[in-house]
Amino acid sequence: MKTSVIGYPRIGSLRELKFVSEKYFKNEITVDNLEKTAAELRKQHLNIQKQNNIDFIPSNDFSFYDNMLDTAVLFDIIPKRYKNLKLSDIDTYFAMARGYQGKNGDVKALAMKKWFNTNYHYIVPEFDDNTKITLKGSKPFDEFLEAKALGIKTVPVIIGAFTLLKLIRFSGNKRIYDIIDEITSAYREIIDKFSKIEAKWIQFSEPYIVHDLESEDIKLLNCLYKDIIKEKKVKILLQTYFGDIRDCFDEVLSLDFDGIGLDFIEGKESLSLIKEKGFPENKTLFAGVVNGKNIWKNNYAKTCKTIEELKKYCSEIVINTSCSLLHVPYTLKNETKLEEKYKKYFAFAEEKLSELNDLKYIIDSDTKTEAYKNNYSLFNSERDCIDKNIRKRISEINEKDFIRLPDFNKRRKLQKEKFNLPLFPTTTIGSFPQTADVKSNRSSYKKGKISKEEYIDFNRRKIAECIALQEEIGLDIFVHGEYERNDMVEYFGENLKGYIFTEKAWVQSYGTRCVKPPIIWGDISREKAITVDWSVYAQSLTDKLVKGMLTGPVTILNWSFPREDISLKECAYQIALAIRDEVLELETNGIKIIQIDEAALREKLPLRKSDWQKEYLDWAIPAFRLVHSGVKAETQIHTHMCYSEFTDIISAIDNMDADVITFETSRSDLHILDSLKENNFKTEVSPGVYDIHSPRIPSVDEIKSELLQMLNKISSEKLWVNPDCGLKTRGTDETIPSLKNMVKAAKLLRKENNYR
Ligand code: GLN
Ligand code: ZN
Repeated sequence: MKTSVIGYPRIGSLRELKFVSEKYFKNEITVDNLEKTAAELRKQHLNIQKQNNIDFIPSNDFSFYDNMLDTAVLFDIIPKRYKNLKLSDIDTYFAMARGYQGKNGDVKALAMKKWFNTNYHYIVPEFDDNTKITLKGSKPFDEFLEAKALGIKTVPVIIGAFTLLKLIRFSGNKRIYDIIDEITSAYREIIDKFSKIEAKWIQFSEPYIVHDLESEDIKLLNCLYKDIIKEKKVKILLQTYFGDIRDCFDEVLSLDFDGIGLDFIEGKESLSLIKEKGFPENKTLFAGVVNGKNIWKNNYAKTCKTIEELKKYCSEIVINTSCSLLHVPYTLKNETKLEEKYKKYFAFAEEKLSELNDLKYIIDSDTKTEAYKNNYSLFNSERDCIDKNIRKRISEINEKDFIRLPDFNKRRKLQKEKFNLPLFPTTTIGSFPQTADVKSNRSSYKKGKISKEEYIDFNRRKIAECIALQEEIGLDIFVHGEYERNDMVEYFGENLKGYIFTEKAWVQSYGTRCVKPPIIWGDISREKAITVDWSVYAQSLTDKLVKGMLTGPVTILNWSFPREDISLKECAYQIALAIRDEVLELETNGIKIIQIDEAALREKLPLRKSDWQKEYLDWAIPAFRLVHSGVKAETQIHTHMCYSEFTDIISAIDNMDADVITFETSRSDLHILDSLKENNFKTEVSPGVYDIHSPRIPSVDEIKSELLQMLNKISSEKLWVNPDCGLKTRGTDETIPSLKNMVKAAKLLRKENNYR
């Protein structure tokens, strides 16, 4: 039996790549310094896999920002506006990722979207009519040769043609079928080049085929691969993940691939498909049985049973991760504070390598090794994670708990009268820049270097500064700035019972940005108020309304590592009840507007549309409603959602029954506006008037024209004005002028009154 890894994390176990990249962005180091760290990391990652006897070790899974962007650049899919900047290759690449504002010009970044059902975000390649696909780049070959020089024959990973074509944005007149020949010949050239440098296998990643597919899609898939692999001189692994391939199983198996990678964790039907339809003798099955997305240990007994089953149908099996390990943290070794009683249940990327190695040995030798026995007893002993009171409270929830009264229109009228806000109220999404002093205050407190009083005092001073700044900028609705929060989910995790957290378990979210998801260990409850003191203090400093800031249950769940022993629905309801208590306590303490962020609502939407309602929305939307259904009519509930497509769940979002919602659209070109209009979206809304993920400062005119565009689709009484996301990651220098421009734009518009 052999083992394989689909992809390894690349940011560095202590986020080394993040830190050098950010230094490079600030011009503090040269490109050589950056390249050097990158090469060291690649070497480490190869070696650690080698030490764990992995047979199929990936290469080209490294990226300076994102693999989709790498693929675009590999094929010269670079819109003209970036080429026109006449920057070096690497700077053009970063300009596409982050936008560019400097002496060579001023361009926005490409759009960014969630990578399937993960919390990773990819850069959306854009194909304009000037684009001609050619194999321009050399990254995959360079990295293959680099590994070869280290004595490791890797499997280069390339995003497959089908997934690439499905995720590209066509901004000109050309469409998929206009560029098939270009694309297939570029992929053939890749295979050719790899055969020349003696690669044995290439992995084409095709996660897109785990969606519901139309017959057109299947035709396209067939047409692409018939051509791409027709004269292949290298073995081709078609790798899928994040689900099963029930819609194209027959077609995929009839194509001339040498290996097929299937996901047996999220692919609910992978096993039954094979049982029902069999598996060709001349192909290798790469069986994704080690979960690449969650941090719980693999259940060896269960996995061995699956492999035994599969052996009846497949002549050659490779034990594989279920997806790239990019989605889990590096190593438990960095967790010096986590107690052994917890740790013994977990496996991060490095530990997953040894799980693969264990499994290989157990299966090959057919012996119940020590590792097997330990694993068995772990899975067959009680885990301390149940809270009877919570279970009781959950069982007592009834229909009424999901309905807020009075209805939206009645509340809206009351709130309008009470708040008396100007047209196009201006606000922000919550956090203000987390400058070095803010972070060091928090870390000093955590390390016990300063007292609780000192910690609180400092944050109060920051809150006071933040309120004063908002007065100066002239915003209408204020926030307290979220200085006490490291992360919008981790912070709540730390304050809820049932959670445990890590020190260094970072996972890449986009570019250089990482998150450290907390772990849901047991039943969740709130033991004391979490945010109330901060919000009440901020409100005491101003006559303007200050929003209370919470994270919603679905996002808390989606950005945590979930339990595997109870359902997501049950877990979401437990969190919802805890946040509900916080909402009511904020209200009792005089907070009149409460924002409950559901940044990640769409994230865990099943990839197959046919599963959306029954497997997800049917509990996710009620979980949100459960949080706010208890407030008074005049308390205004806001929610916020991050970069995503919403058009297809727009009615579910309206059904969350918030009073105001802010979206991120400035990076996806206002597509959503049409859908708001078509669906008579009832909730008041701000699509986010500028992109905070990019350091460029939007001008007043730019924001104003953005707003005018919005006003074509949203009635003036319903439009709010704010940046598209929290400002935590931004610098003060870019934030203040951007917000000032935003407020000016809103004021101009009010004055001109010519928006209809
Ligand atoms: N209120 C949060 C903040 O401003 C929301 C962040 C987010 O949507 N990712 O930081
Ligand atoms: Zn956001």
